[in-house]
Amino acid sequence: MGAARGGPAGGQVPDLIVREQADPLFGWRYWQLSPRRLLRSVTQREFEWPPGRVLKAKCVEVGHPAPADRCNCGLYANPDLEALRQHGLCLAPDVIVLGQVALWGKVVDDEANYRAEFAYPARLSLVVDSLIDDTPAETLVEGLQAYRVPVHLTTLDEAVAGMSKDMLKFQAMSRRTSGH
Ligand SMILES: [Zn+2]
Repeated sequence: MGAARGGPAGGQVPDLIVREQADPLFGWRYWQLSPRRLLRSVTQREFEWPPGRVLKAKCVEVGHPAPADRCNCGLYANPDLEALRQHGLCLAPDVIVLGQVALWGKVVDDEANYRAEFAYPARLSLVVDSLIDDTPAETLVEGLQAYRVPVHLTTLDEAVAGMSKDMLKFQAMSRRTSGH
């Protein structure tokens, strides 16, 4: 490990890429907001991305240096925005942030995902029609500026596709009609 190697085309062996922080790979991911209105992981709700601090992957299952080949460890991002948009199914009906994330150090390329050793958001888009209460979008954007990267606004139509979009839109509509 440590040296880049190209797996056979279509083979099972993931590619291992090594990049410097100054020359990162970029992937796409969703976040949702923690109670402090900072980015939190979609799947690990308790996990907040600290503003101004590089995130380093840990392997909680095995405890080896992360990311490792035949494991699930590493900081995830999708290399392909369209693929991510089609798989927004685990998004909770809660504020959604779509963004690009810079990845460096060791990066395992599993085709479906990158799993990186280090990560930091590169740009963020707040999904304005995913807001769940009367907090104005500007307040949330201001909070996200703690990451010191560009923050834009986007919509569910732009950020999510397919079934998950329909589901999230329906939930947002129900919230509005029920007076919240
Ligand atoms: Zn692992």
